[in-house]
Amino acid sequence: MMDAKSRAEVKEQLVKALGESKVLHEKADLLPYTKDTYRIPLEDEYRYLPDFVVLPETTPEVQSVVRIAAEHRIPLIPKGGGSNRTGMLVPILGGIVVDTIRMNKVVEVNLPNLYVTVQPGITLKELDQYLEPYGLWLTQEQGSFKVATIGGSISTSGFSRRHQKYGSISDRVMSLEVVLASGEVLRTGQKVLYTSTGYRLHQLFIAAEGTLGIITEATLRVEPLPEARDIILAFFKDFWAANDAAQRLMTSGVTFSGGEAYEGHGMDKLGAPQGMKGMFYVLLDGTKGEVAAQKDFVVSLIAESGGVLASSDVAMSFMTIYTEQWCGARAITGLEDVLTTYIPMERMREFYDKMWNQVAPKYGIEPLPGEKYSLDVGRYRMAGGRYRLPKGEGAWQKYQQVLREIARLATSMGGSIQSCHGIGIEHRDNMDLEYSKAALDAMRSIKRVFDPDNIMNPGKKLPER
Ligand SMILES: Cc1cc2nc3c(=O)[nH]c(=O)nc-3n(C[C@H](O)[C@H](O)[C@H](O)COP(=O)(O)OP(=O)(O)OC[C@H]3O[C@@H](n4cnc5c(N)ncnc54)[C@H](O)[C@@H]3O)c2cc1C
Repeated sequence: MMDAKSRAEVKEQLVKALGESKVLHEKADLLPYTKDTYRIPLEDEYRYLPDFVVLPETTPEVQSVVRIAAEHRIPLIPKGGGSNRTGMLVPILGGIVVDTIRMNKVVEVNLPNLYVTVQPGITLKELDQYLEPYGLWLTQEQGSFKVATIGGSISTSGFSRRHQKYGSISDRVMSLEVVLASGEVLRTGQKVLYTSTGYRLHQLFIAAEGTLGIITEATLRVEPLPEARDIILAFFKDFWAANDAAQRLMTSGVTFSGGEAYEGHGMDKLGAPQGMKGMFYVLLDGTKGEVAAQKDFVVSLIAESGGVLASSDVAMSFMTIYTEQWCGARAITGLEDVLTTYIPMERMREFYDKMWNQVAPKYGIEPLPGEKYSLDVGRYRMAGGRYRLPKGEGAWQKYQQVLREIARLATSMGGSIQSCHGIGIEHRDNMDLEYSKAALDAMRSIKRVFDPDNIMNPGKKLPER
């Protein structure tokens, strides 16, 4: 933490570089920057205060801030929409939060080459609204698309529900401009989606959680808006029946943009026959003819798999609520956490059995009603579920033990601790379960190349030795 003299000096330098209105230093202004949607212990809620928050608008302004931080060796925490789930923004060592909220401009829309260049603070939703008149979209439909920014999505390797057809943001990054810890600007490469020349530097910043540099501009591949879209929603006797249908779809070769099988709750309100406890939705888009043909195929597959179709109106309104309200409303209450593990398909049932019948009872955690199972269907697998956090004495310690057991279970099955949502501080000390010492040392070496003084979001992602 900074002493009063250095603090006064840094404040003067920041104000000189950015102007008074772009530097926050009063306690009341800093309080909203003490946490994100990760559940830290209640007693620590306002413990970690940043020293300053800056609101730059341009790359040279970011460079000035980084140079000041480098001179004083103060941590820098780049911030987007603040929606990450793993404590990536918690200023555990104080420092300067670089809030990118004002870096929200579209720099270029390039129609012939189907790309867009933007500043990092634009939200996914704002970008799609901007692109619509051009007949384009990014396709990055995250549950958090109203608040998550391009910089945040890249830095967490954000997951899009249309991943089967369009991939996710990691597949769309063509080139990045990054301010490094030295204050130097790095351009990772030309604005091309395909090249076989240099090392793929931009890949290093995907899921880097702000630990390697501050992204100040991103060039991303965009797609033509589809002529038609549709959604098919079907009910099944349970999650596993829904999942069987999902797996048949996966291996059928038919084009679909994404889908999800999960344990349903309150499905009678959607018209599900009594006793049905599983759901499966499939997203389709393309030309009208393509969508009609895909729909015929999926409808037959569902009937053959014992599913019961919801009406088109119900399916449409379900999806609107799901995208526009549900995910926003779920922005953490502080009482629950979510599983986003990657589990190989053949171990899925075993994973869930062990999770809910062995791990959960041991630590007194319970799944939320109807939220034991969910599986994204497509090229990116994510085995989900939601549970209430442990309560009472020792709750925090129990929660940490649960996280480690989940990490151990997922990695022992050849899976990954987190498909999306990253590491932050939540799973930092579990990385040794997924990566060998050599792999972690290689990551630390990369970090040292970009950030020798460890000022870029220190204490996140990589475990201490
Ligand atoms: C209700 C809800 C639904 C969600 N649904 C999804 C989902 O469907 N898919 C999914 O992937 N995630 C989802 N998330 C998690 C979260 O929204 C994502 O992790 C999101 O991509 C974070 O973006 P953000 O702009 O909010 O980033 P922040 O939370 O602000 O930051 C995340 C990380 O990115 C770094 N960062 C931000 N901007 C920059 C920059 N310019 N340069 C360098 N580093 C930067 C930060 O330092 C931090 O480490 C959901 C969260 C909630 C609360």
